[in-house]
Amino acid sequence: MQIADYLSKKKIPIPSDYNKRKRGTKSLTYGLWQQSTVRFILSNEIYTGTVIQGKRKKVSFKSKKFIDLPEEDWIKVENMHEAIISKEDFERAKKVINATKGSRVVQNDYLFKGLLRCYDCKGYIGIRSPDKNGNIYGRCQRYGRFGKFDVCSPHNFNYQVFEEQMLEVLREVCKEYTNTKKLEEIAKQTKTKQAQEFDIKKQIEFFKKQVEGETKKLEVMYDDRLAGIITLDEYMKNANRIKEVVKGYEQNIKELEQELSGENDRTKSESKLDNLIEEFLNMEKPTKEIIREFIEKIEIHSDKQVDIYFNFKPLQEMSEKLKFICAKKEYERKVG
Ligand SMILES: [Zn+2]
Repeated sequence: MQIADYLSKKKIPIPSDYNKRKRGTKSLTYGLWQQSTVRFILSNEIYTGTVIQGKRKKVSFKSKKFIDLPEEDWIKVENMHEAIISKEDFERAKKVINATKGSRVVQNDYLFKGLLRCYDCKGYIGIRSPDKNGNIYGRCQRYGRFGKFDVCSPHNFNYQVFEEQMLEVLREVCKEYTNTKKLEEIAKQTKTKQAQEFDIKKQIEFFKKQVEGETKKLEVMYDDRLAGIITLDEYMKNANRIKEVVKGYEQNIKELEQELSGENDRTKSESKLDNLIEEFLNMEKPTKEIIREFIEKIEIHSDKQVDIYFNFKPLQEMSEKLKFICAKKEYERKVG
């Protein structure tokens, strides 16, 4: 970290900025060095003049996938180009890096870990270890790391309170979704899904029969024309009309078939969501995994406002509706 901060203060461009500048594109990063970049550079043997090949291998000739190979299988060729780091320095850095490896404390596995983002800088929100009072706080990681360079703001919040409230919101959204769905179904449920599907299939069947009939007519007319019963002019006129009619029927069939498969897709994703909700609501303590099924990410504003991004559109809509109701209640409470 000291090396990274030293480079940041000296305004040495970070590698991605350097590359972008060479290509003439504008950089979107802050231009501040991460520890991981320094670590990557210090561990890269290429700076000692050695070229390494065969770190990865294609799974098969046709496949685009690669697999990592063990270090003893790598092909190393020394002194391929001029070294900018001596082998001794490289080995010393390697020793220091290896000595610090694994010394970092493994973080607790929090329910919403990895889902939290800073609304302002879009970076991760880190969850810190409990303080001496046992409180756990979330904070913008970019601020934590680069706040001294005036990057972003703390976005501090009590994680334990947040987790409790978030689970409450999630439960409420799920319950509200289930209830609304039930009501909707009762309202429109004169026909079951199967009955609706059956109707569509019957219509498709009908239009297919029509197409068959019209095609037969065309064949008969063709015979009549060959036998000289109708004129070429009459034949052409009628044939064109029939072809137009058939085209219309075929369009109908196409649309009905699309409706049918769309209905199936919707039913599939809906029933997946229904199962998930049932499982979630029955859980005494929800797992990290199920939370990730529901939620794509959660953004935290500096005033502690929270935006949830759901993986399911109906839940997203429901949560926005609920937010409105909550805001309205808040407003009414304040006013009266
Ligand atoms: Zn931030």
